[in-house]
Amino acid sequence: MTPFSYAAPSNAVEALAALNNPETHLHGLGPSKFIAGGTNLLDLMKENVMRPAHLIDLNNLPYKDIEATPSGGLLLGALARNADTAYHPRVRADYPLLTAAILAGASPQLRNMASNGGNLLQRTRCYYFYDSTVPCNKREPGSGCSAVGGLSRQHAILGASAHCIATHPSDMCVALAALGAVVHVQSPAGERQIPFAAFHRLPEDRPEHDTHLAGDELITHLELPEAKRFAGHSVYLKIRERASYAFALVSVSAALDLAPDGSIREARLALGGVAHKPWRDLDVEQALIGLKPAESTFQQAADALLREARGQGANDFKIPLAHRAIVRALSQAAIGTVTNNGENDSDEGAV
Ligand code: SF4
Repeated sequence: MTPFSYAAPSNAVEALAALNNPETHLHGLGPSKFIAGGTNLLDLMKENVMRPAHLIDLNNLPYKDIEATPSGGLLLGALARNADTAYHPRVRADYPLLTAAILAGASPQLRNMASNGGNLLQRTRCYYFYDSTVPCNKREPGSGCSAVGGLSRQHAILGASAHCIATHPSDMCVALAALGAVVHVQSPAGERQIPFAAFHRLPEDRPEHDTHLAGDELITHLELPEAKRFAGHSVYLKIRERASYAFALVSVSAALDLAPDGSIREARLALGGVAHKPWRDLDVEQALIGLKPAESTFQQAADALLREARGQGANDFKIPLAHRAIVRALSQAAIGTVTNNGENDSDEGAV
């Protein structure tokens, strides 16, 4: 590991000043990095993939609470831990999709450490990203992509480019995408809010950038809009190579709001494990409105969502897998929410 200096500011102003100190500038790829839970960054530092010269520890900042908003939503502190978020009574009652997605990810130990903000900022990556002996445009811009023509079983079927075909690894973010979360950020210039769909990037020709977060910004909160109407019909379905502690081959966040006559009043649908970012298609959601839940309806939704899906050969199987997962998740959601009772941590709450 490369030596680094360390600071632990007590508020956002000090943290941003430390980040934007010209001597330790270039947040993201340069010598200065925020750290909270450290569950991704420390791995990357140990592998010499990331070599920040200066670490700014955010754990003394106050963004650890989970609070109701006046409009009936919920404000999640960026420094609240993933486990505390998953088991929060309001999250479990009103956003069971988020609870299920968080508990499907990583391990109990990692969920106890990982922060909400950090979950958004974990690197979109593949196994070549960790291997500094091979080309990787994300680690070394312009060096090439070893996954194109290489091992690509885990890789993207939507939104990829010739420069990077990695998939976003988060489960939590797939639920946040479906729930229409908003990311609150602060910089020396003030505060702004970023719709979740506009937070993460597709790779295009700059895969070294995972998000649209500016270099001088700090995530302070994630806002969940009011979503009780989905609480009774929400499912997070994760398909993976083994029963626990594995990234998704495909995951689906599905949530339905059903009218008294059983027709779909509103639908939410987001995929994980298939693209450089959580994948949500508003047109597909819109097309479901007014229809009665039925397998044929959900087949058509899957057809539409995957209309531009392309495999790399080794991951071609993901297209029919995603198709079946979408139909299954929507069918389960129509029946009712699949809950995790919080007692089976050993299998990460797989649905
Ligand atoms: Fe690097 Fe992306 Fe290619 Fe993986 S897919 S080797 S992360 S550029």
